[in-house]
Formats: sequence, C-alpha cells, structure tokens
Amino acid sequence: SIKILGVKIHQVTNETAYNRFLTLMEEPKLSMICTPNTEIVMEAQHDDELKDVLQDADLVIPDGIGLIYASKIHQLGLTERVTGIDTMERILKYANNNKKSIFLFGGKPGVAEKAAEKMKETYPNIQIKGIRDGYFKKEEEDKIIDHINEVKPDLLFVALGAPKQEKWIYQNRKTLNAKVAMGVGGALDIWAGVSKRAPKIFQKLHLEWFYRLLKEPSRIGRMLSLPKFMIKVLISRDFSRPS
Ligand code: UDP
Repeated sequence: SIKILGVKIHQVTNETAYNRFLTLMEEPKLSMICTPNTEIVMEAQHDDELKDVLQDADLVIPDGIGLIYASKIHQLGLTERVTGIDTMERILKYANNNKKSIFLFGGKPGVAEKAAEKMKETYPNIQIKGIRDGYFKKEEEDKIIDHINEVKPDLLFVALGAPKQEKWIYQNRKTLNAKVAMGVGGALDIWAGVSKRAPKIFQKLHLEWFYRLLKEPSRIGRMLSLPKFMIKVLISRDFSRPS
C-alpha cells in the first residue's frame, strides 16, 4: 500500500484490485472494501475515525482522478483510477458466475428494491438475499444487523453515502456475517435508475466530477475539496511509496 496525505491506499489497477477481491472471498473473516476519492482523503485529514477505517480496510482503491495526479507528482505508483462503480460491476459479474448471494442496504425507501429488480434482469444467477433502505433510527440498527446475519449474504453492499457507510461497516465488522462488505455510495440510485452515471465522454476526459456538479450544484462545497487537495499535495510531504 501507499500513503497519500497520510491516508492508506492500495497500489492497485482494476485488474489487481479484482484479484485481491477474489482472495478476500476465500478468507474466513469479513473483509472491507473502501473506494475513497479526493474528498474522502481530505475528510480523513481531520477525521481520525475515518483515517482508521481506511488504515484497517482490506482493499482501498483509488477512486478519484486527484489521487492519480497526486501519485504522478510524487511517483507513488498508481497508474489508473479504479472506481467503486466499476469494481462493484466486476463483483456482481463474479457473483453471477459463481451463484453468490448479496444484500443491498441503503438508499431511499424503494430504491434498493428497484435496484434489485434491475440486477436480477442483468445477473439472474445472483441470489438477492435481503434488502433494506438506508434511513433508520439508531435503535433499529440491531434489527438490521440481525436481518443481515440471518441470511448470511456473501456480499454486503452498503449505500449510506461516504463516509457514513464506511464507518457503519467498520463499527459493525465484528458482528456482521458476510464475506465482503463494500460502501457503494450512489450506486444503488444508478442501478434503480434514480440517477445516471456521467456519459462516457465525461468519463474519458476525467470530468465525471464536473458532470455531477452540473446535475447536483449543491455539491459545490464538497467539490472544492479537489483544488484544496491538489494544493496540499504540492506542499505536503505526507506520502509513502509502495513498501
Ligand atoms: N443515504 C442513505 N441513508 C442516509 C444518507 C444517505 O441511505 O442516511 C443514501 C442516499 O439515499 C444515496 C446514497 O446514500 O442513495 C449515497 O449518497 P451520495 O450520492 O451522496 O453518496 P456519496 O457520493 O456521498 O458516496
């Protein structure tokens, strides 16, 4: 792994990230996949819990073009962006080919159901063992965990937004009965057709963030973390190369 502004990221490509996922599926304990972008790395600068979550996560993929720029500047060895949404897609393909089971947790009421319907059409061999929306009271948490543990999914996708989802998985990692848990942000919304991924041209030009800004202008505050991140990258020495 490497460090960017003191935050652990694995030095992976799309291919090696997937290979690591396959290894994690063989391990007896729950493994956790995180997909930080520059916003999250910036948040981890003043959020020690989030920093610990990333430090302990079993696979931390670089999901943000800013992280790749930082790697280029400091020669950290990241060669390509590995997005959460693409990684999830690979994992779903794997689940379909290997008849694995999943649990979808998060999103507004009805979103996970809709996402599940679409997934069933695309990946008919995946067993969708449970669904739960992401709006719950603190006292309902035990019930949600019991539900997950009753059905014992191979894969648990948590869509509560970052970093809430990462912290939720981390806080419950000792009790959750699944092989791999992953925070997937707005992915269920995309599956459900509630929101759309940026068109290919934006993806190619590394302007997905810009597309998202056009769609959701209220994200401007959060997105200002990207230029702040780049400035910090230029002046900081808090990096480490692969060991
Ligand atoms: N969400 C949720 N519970 C919450 C807050 C958010 O289920 O308490 C869901 C929300 O409905 C959306 C998803 O989390 O489907 C991700 O939100 P966002 O697109 O903001 O994700 P981010 O980009 O922050 O990871």
